[in-house]
Amino acid sequence: MPRIGVLALQGDVREHVAALAACGADPVPVRRADELAGVDGLILPGGESTTIARLLTAFDLADPLRARLRDGLPVFGSCAGMILLATEVLDTRPDLLPLGALDIAVRRNAFGRQVDSFETELELTGVPGGPMRAVFIRAPWVERVGPGVGVLARILDGPAAGRVVAVRDEVRLATAFHPEVTGDRRLHAMFVAMVDRASANGA
Ligand code: GLN
Repeated sequence: MPRIGVLALQGDVREHVAALAACGADPVPVRRADELAGVDGLILPGGESTTIARLLTAFDLADPLRARLRDGLPVFGSCAGMILLATEVLDTRPDLLPLGALDIAVRRNAFGRQVDSFETELELTGVPGGPMRAVFIRAPWVERVGPGVGVLARILDGPAAGRVVAVRDEVRLATAFHPEVTGDRRLHAMFVAMVDRASANGA
């Protein structure tokens, strides 16, 4: 059973812990470097990316986390977590230095004020079982996808149609929306499978 951490500095930690447990993983909240050292994978939850970035530094987690991500730690970032994983953040406040683990450029608060928060249906590549209900809360979108990063989902209609909102590479998964709040566990199950595969390859 893979041990999967949920970064527990700010944001919707409990929902990710519950989703991971439902997918057969062993979830652990991560606040300290020794807790980070013991996990096979990590979720960066939604919340406020500048706050989480500041707390990572305050808790002496920024450098150990960068090091583990460089070594290929499987990671899943949702919303603020997606922003933190990016190599490039557009329209950022100058104090947000992303972790640079996933080769994407992300625009913060991309959907603008009028559609601050909304729900829609998405078709996800490689995720069987039909469309997924997706909840967006002051969400980013992805404006550049590097080589080796695959697009899993785009907005289907409305003014933002075609915008990329879910991506992955071999060991990293990122969504602009919050799969932990809908009860649809397919993306958490996909991440647990990614962690399993990475652990098997490393063993
Ligand atoms: N807008 C937030 C940020 O920039 C992200 C919102 C979220 O995680 N729900 O960090």
